[in-house]
Amino acid sequence: MNKNIERFIRYAKIDTQADENSLTVPSTEKQKDLSRLLVKELKELGLKDAYMDEYGVVYAHLDGEGEVIGLNAHVDTALEVTNAGVNPRIVEKWDGKDIILNDEYKISLEQFPFMKQVIGHDLVVTGGNTLLGADDKAGIAIIMGVLDYLNQNPDFKHHPLAIAFTVDEEIGRGPKYFSLEKMKADYAYTIDGGAVDHIDFENFNAQQLKVQITGVAVHPGEGINTLVNALQIQSEFICALPEKETPFYADEGYWHLNTANGSSEKTEFTAILRNFSREKLEQLDAKIYAVRDNLAKKYPTAKIEVSISEQYENMKKYVDKDPRPVIKAVEAMKRLGIEPKFTRIKGGTDGATFSKMGLVTPNLGTGSANHHGRFEFLSVQLFEKMIEIVLEIIKK
Ligand SMILES: [Zn+2]
Repeated sequence: MNKNIERFIRYAKIDTQADENSLTVPSTEKQKDLSRLLVKELKELGLKDAYMDEYGVVYAHLDGEGEVIGLNAHVDTALEVTNAGVNPRIVEKWDGKDIILNDEYKISLEQFPFMKQVIGHDLVVTGGNTLLGADDKAGIAIIMGVLDYLNQNPDFKHHPLAIAFTVDEEIGRGPKYFSLEKMKADYAYTIDGGAVDHIDFENFNAQQLKVQITGVAVHPGEGINTLVNALQIQSEFICALPEKETPFYADEGYWHLNTANGSSEKTEFTAILRNFSREKLEQLDAKIYAVRDNLAKKYPTAKIEVSISEQYENMKKYVDKDPRPVIKAVEAMKRLGIEPKFTRIKGGTDGATFSKMGLVTPNLGTGSANHHGRFEFLSVQLFEKMIEIVLEIIKK
């Protein structure tokens, strides 16, 4: 096993799952276990100023020539499947046949046809009971692999680097505890994606909708001209929202009901609102307010409260203003004979928020896939390729 993949497996075995119900920072103390290890290893690789701040975020810097390039990955893992007891295994030169994870689960080409692309690769997989956490420990190991190479090859001329390993990305709190002042970069990359020939700099604009309805509760036997049932208004509200703009039908943007609950007196439902276009997202907002106004007229004694809060923003407009990191990545990939592809992320990245904060941060891949679940895997060959791509990007 080479030392880059060994490093990934070392990180993967540390449980760093985030917890959205926690109010602490980071959401789970165990994220700091990995952060502490990273500080130690960064120092060993010559980044003497490496430290972990009070939030568990790790910063480190390395001198070089030219603009300061930031590299970011996150230490936490997703909530869907546990991160405790990860036991990664390497399937060497995968022949395309079913990979038996455990008695219950297997990875098959039938289920994941895109995996044709990695036949012949060495694949790191899970033991079936956990996720792998290549999202985003593969990103961390790629950055550490780059720094190890620089440490071994002092003659390799490169840009100054600013490293940040952030916490709680999976619950959307990462940027809240990230400091541009501590990072000190001119532009940056999150290494937190899938395919290594992709450069992502477009993502959804995202809002959260919350609707609370309070009806008028009296005994139904005395309900004539008095009783107003909140559950009924809630169902009318939801049915009045545009059905053709839900994920089943709509690709460019949608509303998606997340939770709905309550009683005849009081209800609450939440939905996520997403669109690549800000304008279209605002048109959806207007439709939601119109539904509220209609129902308020129909049920004047009920209270219908709508709140729409901002979650993240499409980073494209920031990249359009400062395309340096995208141009640099495109040129580096072309020099390596890779034709870069540009995907639009149907979600958000920490980089989207960093971009809004003033640090333009497109996203690069890690060579892993099937994130957030037990079928997650990492291609050793693509992971190594990504180390090469990042070295080419930072080369002077
Ligand atoms: Zn991630």
